[in-house]
Amino acid sequence: MIVNMSDAATEQQIDHVIQRIREAGFQPHVTRGTERTIVAAVGSGGRRHEIEALSVAPGVDNVVAIAQPFKLVSWQTRPQPTIVDVAGVRIGGPDVVVIAGPCSVESREQLLETAQGVKRAGAAMLRGGAYKPRTSPYEFQGLGIEALKILREARELTGLPVVTEVMSTEDVDLICEYADMLQVGARNMQNFALLRRLATVKKPILLKRGPSATVKEWLLAAEYLLSGGNDQVALCERGIKTFETGTRNTFDLSAVALAKELSHLPVVADPSHGTGKQSLIGAVSRAAIAVGADAIIVEVHRCPERALSDGPQSLDLPQFERVMRGLSQPLRPVLGSRPGQACT
Ligand code: PEP
Ligand code: MN
Repeated sequence: MIVNMSDAATEQQIDHVIQRIREAGFQPHVTRGTERTIVAAVGSGGRRHEIEALSVAPGVDNVVAIAQPFKLVSWQTRPQPTIVDVAGVRIGGPDVVVIAGPCSVESREQLLETAQGVKRAGAAMLRGGAYKPRTSPYEFQGLGIEALKILREARELTGLPVVTEVMSTEDVDLICEYADMLQVGARNMQNFALLRRLATVKKPILLKRGPSATVKEWLLAAEYLLSGGNDQVALCERGIKTFETGTRNTFDLSAVALAKELSHLPVVADPSHGTGKQSLIGAVSRAAIAVGADAIIVEVHRCPERALSDGPQSLDLPQFERVMRGLSQPLRPVLGSRPGQACT
């Protein structure tokens, strides 16, 4: 349920509502907007009628039910877009953020060269896997802590904030020491123990959509993070499993638009895993931006044919520069206001 405070509500009245929500057996989540404050009562097992009765409490405008199963990620609880701040890079603001780098950190030279190259081409953040979720146990599993150290060096060299995947609750503290943003990979989208742990960290999270997850399941996974206390969450569409074999996954363009329509969280598009094909990265990136994506995450390798993971979908540096030039075309002015954000 949502308690909408009136424009003139005092701090004392807001505190009273927070207190009453706790007494009724719910968790209060406060969103202070520019005009008014919203207090959401979330959780299960609370006494709803006690929240409904708050409609006559001083300073309360009205009390409404939250229509969606996901509460804190919906526009109803937070009517302004969330900006995820990754060490100063803002995802969800007016500028599209480009995150680029190799699928896996393979060596110091490989990462430092790539980091400098993607920065020159205009990327604002660096990606690179240290712990890799591989389909086969015989494939390259990532360099682990050695990769984290190399990522940190690349950040010091270029100033680019770093995102890397965390696969296990055991690695969370270590990765937090090295990375600016933690990625929950597609395969772990419904690893609820991991989500609950990440809800307690002070780092932003990039939450990939599971290969077979509905948009609702994806948003409910994000709800775990927000309800546990971490509201710095960016959603990432990376393609889903369908009957199509021409691409590695089917990049779900409509899910980007739908997530923007349903949630105030920023949406990142991953055309690399979404298509599995170098040749499609530029077109799918432009399309994702056209439907409202706030950022693009792209795999770049200095020599894709030698990549230890995801070579076929990795761009080399000249290809990445060409994609970046394509993205700098004035897409948004042509399209008008940003799609998906004006929903009610
Ligand atoms: C990756 O980013 O390299 C990766 C493994 O992504 P996903 O979880 O989307 O497959
Ligand atoms: Mn990859």
